[in-house]
Amino acid sequence: MNLDLRTMMVMIAALSLLFSGLLALAGLHAGSIRGVRQWATGSLLLGLGLAFSYTQLGPPANPWILVLGATLALAGTGFQYYGTRLFKTGYCNAYLPWLVAGAAFAVNSWFVVLHPDIHARVIANSLLFFLINAICAHELFIRMEQPLRTAYWFTGASFSVLAAMFLFRAVVIFLSPDNTYGLYTQIPLNPISFFIGGMAQMAIVFGFVLMLNYRLSADHQRLASTDALTGVMNRRSLELEASRLLARYVRSGETLAVMMIDVDHFKTINDRYGHMVGDEVLRHLTAVAQKSIRTGDYLARYGGEEFCILLPASVERDAWTLAERLRQVFAGSEIEYCGEMLRSTVSIGIADSTHAGLNFVSLLVAADKAMYQAKLAGRNRVSRHSNSVDA
Ligand code: GH3
Ligand code: MG
Ligand code: MG
Repeated sequence: MNLDLRTMMVMIAALSLLFSGLLALAGLHAGSIRGVRQWATGSLLLGLGLAFSYTQLGPPANPWILVLGATLALAGTGFQYYGTRLFKTGYCNAYLPWLVAGAAFAVNSWFVVLHPDIHARVIANSLLFFLINAICAHELFIRMEQPLRTAYWFTGASFSVLAAMFLFRAVVIFLSPDNTYGLYTQIPLNPISFFIGGMAQMAIVFGFVLMLNYRLSADHQRLASTDALTGVMNRRSLELEASRLLARYVRSGETLAVMMIDVDHFKTINDRYGHMVGDEVLRHLTAVAQKSIRTGDYLARYGGEEFCILLPASVERDAWTLAERLRQVFAGSEIEYCGEMLRSTVSIGIADSTHAGLNFVSLLVAADKAMYQAKLAGRNRVSRHSNSVDA
């Protein structure tokens, strides 16, 4: 393969600097997402490292600039790891990239200045690059929700290719009988490994951008579908879920039950204790409701102090058992907020599709009517829609 090492080094260095700017710009609007600035720093250091190494291609080489080039490039990979950890977990020891830089400086000073041995230097650097890239790949091959997993695994695969390339390079040079085999000798291994390395490095940056993009869209999705105060589904996502379920049930003939929950005299609680306490009551009700429902049921804050629960494949009788348990647990528990202790109750209306039909609006209207009956009957009780229909 007639690839020119010099041209490739310039291209990869220039692209790394360009990617550094791109990642820095992307990081400006990443909100609370961490790690993007560290990726930008990683690309910057890699680009600078390659640029310094490029100036030393061919003799006479300045040994300290060679050391600087390799140290910067390895520190860049260290920063890529740092950014990946921060992005993934929000935390990483800040000394890690400096540790990598320190190791790179020590190894290169030893083999370039103190005991010059280009063969050993290239093997040591390749092994260091292999190690950090392999650790990065290991960080990214994890089980997680889609589509973020695709982005993680794509980036992980790119790190793996880079790690494999460096390991291959170290082994080939180690097994080579020629002791002058190194970065600056004109042999096919060098341009080929630079080509593969450059492509993998580009793929890694694309992977970072993809990870950021998918994370942002997942965050927006979550914000748009959950209620900020209680963390449960909001009305919009409840309606989406209900229409998805109903479309299925129209075909399968299954039944859907709905529960409408309304806090009794909530306005009085707000007026007497303040809105913060009112908010705490809503959070407490959410916690009680979450414990009462079965896996597969959907709890949503419908609005204000009203909550709605969808009970798939259920009839009023099932909903009744659940609603009674929820009502009793809530009424029997004390709510504490900044030293204030209070109790509260809920009124619940239930309906199912056998009486109200397989239509979300009519199910809600039916459950709401039943809830109103519970209020009229004195609050702190569960009322069935079928009772009023039968009556
Ligand atoms: P009823 O027993 O008939 O249901 O009486 P109520 O006082 O609960 O009913 P009403 O609908 O009059 O009061 C609802 C109150 O809920 C009014 C509103 O200020 C309050 N509210 C709505 N959203 C929130 C919220 O997010 N936090 C707090 N603290 N209060 C809220
Ligand atoms: Mg209300
Ligand atoms: Mg109320």
